[in-house]
Amino acid sequence: MPLTRRHFQKLLGSVITIPLIKSCRASEEKPQEDTHIITNKNNIVLSTWNNQRANLTAMGVLDTDNSDLLTAIEKGINTVEADPNDMSVGYGGRPDRDGNVTLDACIMDKNGEAGSVTYLQNYMHPISVARKVLESTPHVILSGSGAAKFASEQGYESVDLLTDKSKAEYAEWLKKAEYSPKVNIERHDTIGMIARNGIGEMSGGCSTSGLAYKMAGRVGDSPIIGAGLYVDGEYGCATATGLGELVLENCTTFLIVELLRHGYDVQSACEEAIKRIIKKNNTKDIQVGVIAMDIKGNTGAYSIQKGFNYVKSEGKNTTLNEANSYYR
Ligand code: ASP
Repeated sequence: MPLTRRHFQKLLGSVITIPLIKSCRASEEKPQEDTHIITNKNNIVLSTWNNQRANLTAMGVLDTDNSDLLTAIEKGINTVEADPNDMSVGYGGRPDRDGNVTLDACIMDKNGEAGSVTYLQNYMHPISVARKVLESTPHVILSGSGAAKFASEQGYESVDLLTDKSKAEYAEWLKKAEYSPKVNIERHDTIGMIARNGIGEMSGGCSTSGLAYKMAGRVGDSPIIGAGLYVDGEYGCATATGLGELVLENCTTFLIVELLRHGYDVQSACEEAIKRIIKKNNTKDIQVGVIAMDIKGNTGAYSIQKGFNYVKSEGKNTTLNEANSYYR
């Protein structure tokens, strides 16, 4: 049997890792009993953009077994990956400027362990492959042809991800071949999903075909831990959508969760992370949106521009909400 990351960590942890981590924490951090008082016993799922079907699918999994957060995330995101009408994710996603659909995705579990694929071609469900990376390999990220080889070995079927619609749009785009990421139109529709169960465990996932007509080889924020997604089982989780380069340069979701650790409430953490991007960049025509949740189930959302919406499901309720934005 191959040595997976989890076997490796178990082996190492029993010898040195756990005592080392414990001794650092004891000296550097105050005890956090307060953060762990769980009063909200509902399952909660948040997704970027109007991904209601994904949310309902994830909630359905949690209603059956609320400990199975990874399956909730995977199955929820799978619905969007398989939808040819969502042109920013999976099947039907807009190609790069060479006409190839290249997919990025990552997933993180309640312990902060992660799996990711970048620049994956011809597989409809990158989030499922990312989960396999998490669960069956000693690595965090597999990329390009290596990720595709792994997907094939795991039994996933290779498919053409272009649709008649995406081919026709691409042919039209080629006439001018101008590259201009646009605010809030479908070119930003990445699904980032974060979920928490009634005992305060959290997980998240993110899946995208990236920016339409990007350069061949470009990888965005969505599959990068701490950029497109971050989960810290002690404090909270966050996911991002929008112009990935700015999210990457600012470690946006890591920052949000780190701010939670330092006592920010979840809405203020989202706002501070977006303002950090605005301070460093000309964001007049650029969109980045974030959603986040703390360990207690409080949620936040914020974006640079108007028009960023997200779906929140809690208990029996699912609502589409517009986030507050910096520019109004
Ligand atoms: N963040 C994604 C990327 O840059 C795009 C998006 O959110 O639509 O690849």
